[in-house]
Amino acid sequence: MTTCGDVIVVGRGPAGLLFSSLVAQNRGSVILVADAQGSFPLWGGQWDFCNYTDDGEHVLDPYQWWQQHPSAWDEVRDASTWTLRWQHLMTLWQEIGIPVPDRVPKLNRWMVTPLGQLRPTYWVANWHFVMERPGPLVFVDVPGLVDFRAEVVARVYTATTGQMAKTFRLAVPSGWRRDWHALNWAWFLDSKAGQDWLGQALRDQVRAGEEAVVFPQILGVDHCEEVLEVAQRVLGRPVAEVPLPPPAVGGIRIQRRWEYWLRRHGIQLVSARVTAANRHSVTLQDGRALAADAVVLATGGILGGGLEIQPSGSVRNTVTGAVIGTLGDQLLGAVGHRNWDESVPVIGRMIQGWNPDKRGNGGAMNLWTAHVAYQAFIGHTALAREN
Ligand SMILES: Cc1cc2nc3c(=O)[nH]c(=O)nc-3n(C[C@H](O)[C@H](O)[C@H](O)COP(=O)(O)OP(=O)(O)OC[C@H]3O[C@@H](n4cnc5c(N)ncnc54)[C@H](O)[C@@H]3O)c2cc1C
Repeated sequence: MTTCGDVIVVGRGPAGLLFSSLVAQNRGSVILVADAQGSFPLWGGQWDFCNYTDDGEHVLDPYQWWQQHPSAWDEVRDASTWTLRWQHLMTLWQEIGIPVPDRVPKLNRWMVTPLGQLRPTYWVANWHFVMERPGPLVFVDVPGLVDFRAEVVARVYTATTGQMAKTFRLAVPSGWRRDWHALNWAWFLDSKAGQDWLGQALRDQVRAGEEAVVFPQILGVDHCEEVLEVAQRVLGRPVAEVPLPPPAVGGIRIQRRWEYWLRRHGIQLVSARVTAANRHSVTLQDGRALAADAVVLATGGILGGGLEIQPSGSVRNTVTGAVIGTLGDQLLGAVGHRNWDESVPVIGRMIQGWNPDKRGNGGAMNLWTAHVAYQAFIGHTALAREN
C-alpha cells in the first residue's frame, strides 16, 4: 500500500469527506477544515449517478449514459472505472457502518418522493426505500409531519404506478408535541423508551399482508438499524423510509458516522473559515496558518460557499480569489472550475461539467472528482519524496 503525505482538505461536504477517507485509508494524514456543515443535512442520503437526460427524461442505465456522453475526462466513459469507484464507496461505507448492499447495482432503481412520485436513484443505504419495479405499498402517516401526508403520497403513487397503496396512522407517544419534525421523532426513537413505544404502537396496527411498509424518514439517527429491526419484527414484513426535505435525517446519519470514522482514523477536524490558500498552505480567518504537502478545496459551489457571484456576474472562488468565469458562460447548476488543475486543486461541486441540479449526478460528481484528485495527489507526494 502506498503511504500518502499530509494534506489539508477544506470543506466537510461529501467530496471533502470522501477525499479525506482516501488519504486516511492510505495512511496519509489529513487536517479537515470547514466553517459549516456542508450539504449532507440537506439531502436524504442517496448518491445519484445520473438520473435525468437534458430533456428531463428518466435515465435507467447511468453506465450507458456516461458512455454516450463526452466529458472533460475521457476516462469517465469507462464503465469498469465507474464500477471500481462505486465498489470502493461500497466497502468504505460498510467499514464506516453505513449499511449498504454488498453489490453495486447495474441500473438505477426507483425511489418514492415525499409527494408520492417516482424518481430514479443509484446508491442508497439499506434504510432507504428503493425498488426495481413498483408494487403495492403501505405508507405510514406520522402526525405533525407536513412534508409527508401519507394519504396524498398513496393517492399520487397509485395514480402514477397503477399499484395499490394503503396507509395507516401512527399514534403519538406521551410528550409528543404538535411542532415535532422528523428530527424530533428520530431522536425519540433512538432511545430505548422510543423503541419500546414504537413496538407497542405498531403491534396495535398489525394486519396480514406482505407489502413493504414505508415510513417517512424518522426512524432514528444513530440507532436506526435497531428501530428498523423493531418495526420489521412487529410488522413481519420489509420496512424502509422515504427521505424528507431538510434537515434530512438520512444525510445527517451518514455525516455523523463518516466523521466519527475519520476521527478514529486520526483526522483532525478544524472548525474555521479559510480566507486564503495556495498549493501548500491555508490561512484561517483568525490569522492562523496551516501547511501541508498539498491543499485540496472541497468548498462546494455557490450554496456551499466556495463560489460567489459578484454583482457584475463574474464568479469568484471565495478562497483563492480567482475569478473563474462569468455567469453568462455557464449554466448556474454547472458553475465551477473547468477542471481540478487550478492553482489549488478543487473537487466536488466546485468543478464544472457536471450538473447535479439538472441531471441528478451529484453523488457521481463527488465520487469521480475525489478519485481523480486523489490519484494526482498520490503522484504529487511520490514525486516530492523522490526529490
Ligand atoms: C438541497 C440539496 C439536495 C441534494 N440532494 C442530493 C441527492 O439527492 N443526491 C446526490 O447525489 N446529491 C445531492 N445533493 C448534492 C449536490 O448536488 C452536490 O453533490 C454536493 O452538494 C457537493 O458537495 P461538496 O462536498 O462539493 O460541497 P458542500 O457539501 O457544499 O460542502 C462545502 C463545504 O465547504 C465549506 N467551505 C466553503 N467555503 C469555505 C471556507 N472559505 N472556509 C472553510 N470552509 C468552507 C463549507 O462549510 C462546507 O463544509 C444535494 C444538494 C443539495 C444542496
